[in-house]
Amino acid sequence: MNMLPDVGSLEPITEESEGGFHSLFADAPSSVEFNKLRKRLLRNARQAIEDFSMIKPGERWLVALSGGKDSYGLLAVLLDLKWRGLLPVDLLACNLDQGQPNFPKHILPDYLDSHGIQHRIEYQDTYSVVTDKLPEGSTYCSLCSRLRRGHLYRIAREEGCSALVLGHHREDILETFFMNLFHGGRLAAMPAKLLNDEGDVMVLRPLSYCAETDLEKFASAMRFPIIPCDLCGSQEGLQRNAMKAMLDDIEKRMPGRKDTMIRALANTRPSHLLDRKLFDFAALNQNLTTGQDTSNDI
Ligand code: SF4
Repeated sequence: MNMLPDVGSLEPITEESEGGFHSLFADAPSSVEFNKLRKRLLRNARQAIEDFSMIKPGERWLVALSGGKDSYGLLAVLLDLKWRGLLPVDLLACNLDQGQPNFPKHILPDYLDSHGIQHRIEYQDTYSVVTDKLPEGSTYCSLCSRLRRGHLYRIAREEGCSALVLGHHREDILETFFMNLFHGGRLAAMPAKLLNDEGDVMVLRPLSYCAETDLEKFASAMRFPIIPCDLCGSQEGLQRNAMKAMLDDIEKRMPGRKDTMIRALANTRPSHLLDRKLFDFAALNQNLTTGQDTSNDI
């Protein structure tokens, strides 16, 4: 079941349109189940790309590749779409080696070379910067990702890329939404498309509608050479983990709620919230014609 907004506006990915495959998929399972999973990821990514007008034909995208399941999935989905003629942009995969102890430097270049994927590997020891600045045992992620993002913007500029493409998925967006709601006192999630502060690089998240469980299954079936994410020694983000557990619990008790919540983020009603910057409640007085009581109007 597809629960995403406005699904159906895209041509289906048919068997006829599938002539051949990118070499990434040479050893992929041929089972019906895997093909359904692959098509679901493609469909969801295409839908987000379409909904948020991500493509300008002829542009170049820098695809961030950390070595985790989500970024491998992102790269594979984008290469698959491009292979099918559905993504008219150039792709450059990029790994920022941040100097974490025991980072296995050969894994990503070997993988990318073996599949003929254009890439750039950059070494910047942000790990030392983070561990120098923060006390041992703290959560490094916020500073670490800020530093990483700065380098990725720079690399995008140097490589003539108009967009930096990230592998965040549905669960990342929902967790961020609830962290902002519970701890930040604001209604905000993680945008599918965002212009950086300097105004010269677009940040794109084509997996915004993709379920994390689909990406997990995909990574396992594709046997991506995953690089573990605990090399940095950062403590787990307690707030994010709490949101993840809460969302998983809700989904378990009421299946389908995560898709419903993602749909809700695309269906807001400023007049039914309390944000006076988004809706001119004062102007309602001027529009009053009947004196009808609308206090129960939900
Ligand atoms: S898990 Fe480690 S490498 Fe990843 S963002 Fe956090 S501090 Fe950085």
